[in-house]
Parts: sequence; C-alpha cells; structure tokens
Amino acid sequence: MLPGKTKVLLTREQIRKKVKHLAADIARDYEGKKPLLICVLKGAVVFLSDLMRNLSISVEIDFMAVSSYGSSTASSGVVRILKDLEASIEQKDVIIIEDIVDTGLTLSYLRENLLSRNPGSLKIASLLDKPERRVADVEPDYCGFRIPDEFVVGYGLDYDEKYRNLPDLCILLEFGK
Ligand code: 5GP
Repeated sequence: MLPGKTKVLLTREQIRKKVKHLAADIARDYEGKKPLLICVLKGAVVFLSDLMRNLSISVEIDFMAVSSYGSSTASSGVVRILKDLEASIEQKDVIIIEDIVDTGLTLSYLRENLLSRNPGSLKIASLLDKPERRVADVEPDYCGFRIPDEFVVGYGLDYDEKYRNLPDLCILLEFGK
C-alpha cells in the first residue's frame, strides 16, 4: 500500500502525447546524427524509455546517478556522483535526460561536469520544469511541462523510493511514512 494521498496532475495520456512531440523535435534537430542520451538515475528512467522508443533516429544511451546532499524534498546544490558514465563523451552530441528541473542546482553541476569532458554539443531535455524555484541559471532546451511548485511523484519520480511505479504524474498531498 502507498502511504500518502496523491492527486493526478498529468495523466499518462497527456504525458504520452507530450513525449511524442518532444521526440519529434529532437529527431528533427539531430537528423543525420547519433546523439548520446545521458539518463540521470533514477527518476528519469521512465521518461528515457518512453522518449527513446518514440525517436526515429539512432541514439546511444548511458546513465549517471547523482545525489544531492540534503533532505529528500529539498536540494542543497552539493552534488556527489554515485555512478559515472561508462564511456568518454568527447566530440559526442550529448543530451542530458532529466525528470525535473527544480532549483536547477543539480543540473547546473551536471552541465559543468559534462562540459569539462569536451562533448561535441550538450543539450538538456527535461520532462518537467518548476521555474518558480529556480536558483541556478539553467533552462532545459527541451521541456515537457511547466508545473507549479508542488512535490510530484509517479512516472519514475519518487518520495523516499516510493510512488515511482504510478503511471500518471501526481501531486503528493501527504508525506506519510
Ligand atoms: P534541483 O537540483 O533542480 O533542485 O533538483 C533536481 C532533483 O530534485 C530532481 O532530479 C529530482 O530528483 C528532485 N526533485 C525536485 N523536485 C521534485 C519533485 O517535485 N518531486 C520529486 N519526486 N523529486 C523532485
């Protein structure tokens, strides 16, 4: 049983349509190229798997896991790499695949870290954007939905490792244990 109450913010159907559009935009922009999609674990894994299956161009994938020090619902901006990429990204066309940009501190760290590895190009695709809470100067190049300042779960996003399996994106109304 899931502990807290949730309210649907974006249905699976709304997300499905948006992901299809994002994939079409990316395929158009990267025609004739083979971008490397870097999925930021674990929250972006559902987005990555839906996005890549909608892409009409060849892609490679790799994974990174980062943790930001601080509580589970607030970002501190101090980022630690828990799992690094398998291969060099030098001269590759890289797209960071994120679940959500909130303060932007995690993404800003990741972007600088990846830029120091000399990719051919670097862009950011995020399913969700909470612009109200932005602290760092970072914007996704491809963005699915702008959402209000609420804590959301489902479609890969968790609270305390729960709710990732919900097919819709939901607002978490109670932070139960
Ligand atoms: P930022 O560094 O941009 O503040 O935070 C980015 C990370 O915080 C996201 O990748 C995600 O893991 C987490 N995060 C931010 N907002 C939410 C939210 O509403 N729900 C969940 N589940 N995670 C969030």
